[in-house]
Amino acid sequence: MNPCNMNELGLSLEAPWAVGHFNIHNLEFTRAVVRAAESERSPAVLAVGMLSIKYMGLEALINACKVISMETDAPIAIHLDHARDVAIVKQALSLGINSVMFDGSALSYEENVDKTSQVVKMAHDCGATAEGEVGIIPHGDARVNKDDMTDPTMAVEFAERTGVDFLAVSLGSVHGMKTAGASLDQELLQSLHRQVPVPLVLHGASGVVDGHLANAVANGIRKINVNTRLKVVLKKFFTSRLTRKQEADLLEDYELGMDAVAKAVAERMRLFGSSGKA
Ligand SMILES: [Zn+2]
Repeated sequence: MNPCNMNELGLSLEAPWAVGHFNIHNLEFTRAVVRAAESERSPAVLAVGMLSIKYMGLEALINACKVISMETDAPIAIHLDHARDVAIVKQALSLGINSVMFDGSALSYEENVDKTSQVVKMAHDCGATAEGEVGIIPHGDARVNKDDMTDPTMAVEFAERTGVDFLAVSLGSVHGMKTAGASLDQELLQSLHRQVPVPLVLHGASGVVDGHLANAVANGIRKINVNTRLKVVLKKFFTSRLTRKQEADLLEDYELGMDAVAKAVAERMRLFGSSGKA
């Protein structure tokens, strides 16, 4: 099926399930996610991030996502993750991407409102959806400071002024964690879900234990971003495979690597409640 935007994935504010956003970096990751969507009958988001664009190229990745998403009837959106300048959003939209995230978390609040509003207009003019971010979701070894978490009043105002379709919020998760050690402020999430008029997005899910992720879905998260977890799964698989089966054909290694990633994606889909929703 042709890829769609994020409003066409079947999500609603009320229904307690979330779509998985899976960062892809090459053909293998893309096909693994689409295979999992097909086998789980689940919608999915194929996400293209800045490091992957540097690695593989924006046009190559968007085209790979377009072609491979045709291999399933499950709804698949292609999404630009963490764009920090308007030029790359424009380029991605011109290549036919369905959804874009503008990350203005490093800007002042007013600049974030201004740039995100521009991105929302550009996306909507192309039939695409847009995600913004309020609050700071740190990277690496940093921990979330209470002051960096998303303030509900500010989040409501931001959603209304910018017109975003989805809003990323800071609740305690951290980007790039290789083991699950972060916990989420579920009370803050409940308060955001009650007040903010658009679906909420959780970034940094690889660092959050499964129980907290399930609660986050029950409390209003509707899109969950998964990146590091899949990289860790594939790296572990290759480390073990290449020591045990050095004589095997490389394509067999890749094929089994895709199976390992698809299995990890399917397991996330079941946890997020999106299995069977396509
Ligand atoms: Zn993120």
